[in-house]
Amino acid sequence: MLVVSSKVLDRLTPSQRDLTRSLADIFGAAGKELHLVGGIVRDALLGRARLADLDFATSAQPPRTRELIESAGASSVYLVGERFGTIGAIFGEEPHRLHVEVTTYRREAYPEAHRFPEVAFDATLTDDLGRRDFTMNAIAVDSDSGEVVDPWQGEADIAQALVRAVGDPDERFAEDPLRLLRAARFVSQLGFRLDWRTEQAMERQASSLARISRERILAELTLLLLGEYVDHGLDALRRTGLLHVALPEIEPLTTEAEADLAPRLGREKDLWDHTVRVVRQSPPRPAVRWAALLHDAGKPLTRSVGLDGEVHFFGHERLGAELAYRALGRLNADRALRSSVRTLVELHGRPAAYDPTWTDSAIRRLALDTGEVWDDLLDLAAADVTSGREHKRIAAAQRVDALRARFQHLQEQVELARLESPLDGNDLMEIFDRPPGPWIKGVKNHLRELVIDGALAPDDRNGALQIARSLLAQEEASPVGSAATTAKQSADATRPR
Ligand code: ATP
Ligand code: MG
Repeated sequence: MLVVSSKVLDRLTPSQRDLTRSLADIFGAAGKELHLVGGIVRDALLGRARLADLDFATSAQPPRTRELIESAGASSVYLVGERFGTIGAIFGEEPHRLHVEVTTYRREAYPEAHRFPEVAFDATLTDDLGRRDFTMNAIAVDSDSGEVVDPWQGEADIAQALVRAVGDPDERFAEDPLRLLRAARFVSQLGFRLDWRTEQAMERQASSLARISRERILAELTLLLLGEYVDHGLDALRRTGLLHVALPEIEPLTTEAEADLAPRLGREKDLWDHTVRVVRQSPPRPAVRWAALLHDAGKPLTRSVGLDGEVHFFGHERLGAELAYRALGRLNADRALRSSVRTLVELHGRPAAYDPTWTDSAIRRLALDTGEVWDDLLDLAAADVTSGREHKRIAAAQRVDALRARFQHLQEQVELARLESPLDGNDLMEIFDRPPGPWIKGVKNHLRELVIDGALAPDDRNGALQIARSLLAQEEASPVGSAATTAKQSADATRPR
């Protein structure tokens, strides 16, 4: 076996490399080409390790691909889509399980004018790479020799951190408008810039995004929101006009009028700038990031200027919550995401208003209103501080932390209150056949102390019975001490020091 050294193959994990090797041997023996393609190649060239999927392109036709993959010992093989010519397979067991997709080289064929193109499987590798979206995604690596095939100079673009459409950007986006969002998503995930011509075409074609299904738009936007360079990604959406098409609800945040008003607000450059920073500062979880993006959506519509010249946004949280709910509904988000985001937007200002004079019940009420997204709410509130003045940022963060700590304390108290003696008064009277009296409280307190100390399980009735029995026997042996004082002493004795 030839030992190859390839900058891409060498960066795969050992199990990815072994599998690539054995597939290369099997396809090679059958006289078929097999190339690694797509995200794995891009990320390997970027030095970003990927644990999961391997995508291959092959000269074999789908039925042959299937046979070859089966002979490689896949644990399951399935057809991803006849139309796409893709065979999927799972290899190995957890934690080394690998998901593989092998797709026959494809090209677009135009059987008649004015019809959608069809996919033809009589293509070469070069054809196949030529129909991919961006140059960084149009690089192939020979699974056998490790040779890099890069007809569109994707490596050079990766080196320059550029998202550049393959060939004519207008044509690429017209073929599949989802690519418009994918471009912005890669900006957000990789921190790349948009190539100038690509960006111009995105601007021209932004409105064609309306042709794409809402679910796919939602999925791409969510990936974009979770990106490490989300501020760059969001700005790409705004500059190209995609934001306006995908999320008209927040378009008013970006308008010039906002910027004009900024000096009067005195604190932040403008609402969009603030929004982007809040998103970037929030943890990368879908509900929080979506809420961060939408949290001030109600502000442009509720702005008023008081007699003193102060700007107010009365009721913006509630309106924003409705706008958020509507926006995510339009994108067919599931109910859980929609209602989480609505709650978060509606309540986003509350934690920062916390002060130590709040009563326990005020905190409990806020926690009840918030429900399951309590941690998300506190994280959002902590992120929603972009003041240029450090002391303000610190004070706001401290308020949120103090609220977090107080709620936790309350919860611990609730849990403590739930810790009970495994035997109640009725149990004790029945078991020991004794009338009611102070002895019950003594025994119960003793048992509860043991439960709090973790020395007795709250449901261990048998264990509790033994302890109660010896406690009462002791009491009878030393008639001076009451059960209550004995209980106290023995509980102290069992408590860990
Ligand atoms: P990731 O898996 O990290 O999201 P990826 O680049 O692997 O990134 P996939 O959606 O898995 O993206 O697609 C695999 C490859 O298929 C891409 O790298 C690209 O070459 C091609 N591709 C995917 N979607 C499109 C599209 N809409 N238009 C053209 N080519 C595409
Ligand atoms: Mg992929």
